[in-house]
Amino acid sequence: MTGIIVYSAFFSYILRKTMVMKSSFDPAEKIQNLLQFGEFGGVNPSITDSSTFTFLDPVTMSETFLGHTEGCFLYSRHWNPSNKYLAEALAAMEETESAWITASGMAAITCSILQLCRSGDHLITSVTTYGGTFAFLRNYLPKFDISVSFVDITCLDDVKNAIRPNTKLIYTETVTNPLLQVSDIPSLAAIAKENGILLMVDNTFSPMIMSPARLGADIVVYSLTKFINGKNDCVAGAICGTKAFIEALSNVNDGTAMLLGPVLDPLRSSSILKNLHTLHVRMKQHGHNAMIMASGLKELGLKVSYPGLPSHPQHALFNSMMNTGFGYGGMMILDVGTVDRAYDLMRMMQAEMVGYVAVSLGYYKTLFSNSGRSTSSEVPEDVQRKMGLSEGLIRFSVGLDNDIEKSLMKVKNCLTNLHII
Ligand code: PLP
Repeated sequence: MTGIIVYSAFFSYILRKTMVMKSSFDPAEKIQNLLQFGEFGGVNPSITDSSTFTFLDPVTMSETFLGHTEGCFLYSRHWNPSNKYLAEALAAMEETESAWITASGMAAITCSILQLCRSGDHLITSVTTYGGTFAFLRNYLPKFDISVSFVDITCLDDVKNAIRPNTKLIYTETVTNPLLQVSDIPSLAAIAKENGILLMVDNTFSPMIMSPARLGADIVVYSLTKFINGKNDCVAGAICGTKAFIEALSNVNDGTAMLLGPVLDPLRSSSILKNLHTLHVRMKQHGHNAMIMASGLKELGLKVSYPGLPSHPQHALFNSMMNTGFGYGGMMILDVGTVDRAYDLMRMMQAEMVGYVAVSLGYYKTLFSNSGRSTSSEVPEDVQRKMGLSEGLIRFSVGLDNDIEKSLMKVKNCLTNLHII
């Protein structure tokens, strides 16, 4: 009896602790609390517009090359103070020990994978993943004799069955592009841990909402191009992970990031950092608007998928992993059956000023594209069909519209005029 009481008290303690952890983590506050100033007390850190740095003593320079002088900068491909400020803010947001800033999301993904895998290694990836990532994994990695298994990431048995003795990594997107499947990060992390492999997660679709490292991921990558910058004025990326991993990436002798050199310009870094400070506000509005758009279209009987809808297959999983208060994200998909219908609808929505026919996401305007013929065109059509990517699928990045009901009404009118409803 006493055993049961102790057990249930322990269980409820763990449950409460998990619930508190889930609801109380506030990535926006983590960024807000950072004290980063300019050299003359500026409220924004100064931009270090230099590719190289002087040393008072040549010995210090040599030691910096050996990685012994924390806080010294030697050359901007290695580290730059402006990039360091942004990296610190992203590491704070993700609660990782460290981070590194890259010139694109693809650079973050490719450098991290090449840092971890060598010839003869194997990795497992969600088959549903951004088309550029898919192309890198399928078409590029074979050059290095790195093999890849493409699995349905929502089927944990498929993931387990794909593990081989030479598997180094499980790769996924928190919310996959474009199908918006939700990865079960705690379970994937447990599988990875049990088998001595690493879990790498692309969190581009769900910054603030999800904190993959807190859920067990070893490495979190971002295309900063999207929600985090939110202005569609540049391409950039980030890698968040342990101090040891980031140091390895930037090692002057064999660090993939250092040697392949995809460093971001410090001017861009500083502007992304300023935009990062409004990310929480934007994510809430994107999520609010996407929820109205998705539920409004779903009510018409259309094929809509959005993680915030109870009809989404991983809605409960999403709820169990999310940081509360940031919504369900700005991405939704609508399947109108055929590519011609998709094109007609997008043309009409653009003419009605619902948004733009454009790839990318996280912009203040709504953006829409036919995934199969654009950002997933690298995925062969038979693979698209097998994973459930219909030719008529339109991916929406719902914007920051002040009156989303008006935009929803315009979409409904377009659908009526095209006899889709
Ligand atoms: N990851 C995801 C989920 C993406 O959608 C994209 C681009 O669309 C990338 C990575 C690549 O990022 P970038 O275009 O910044 O290289």
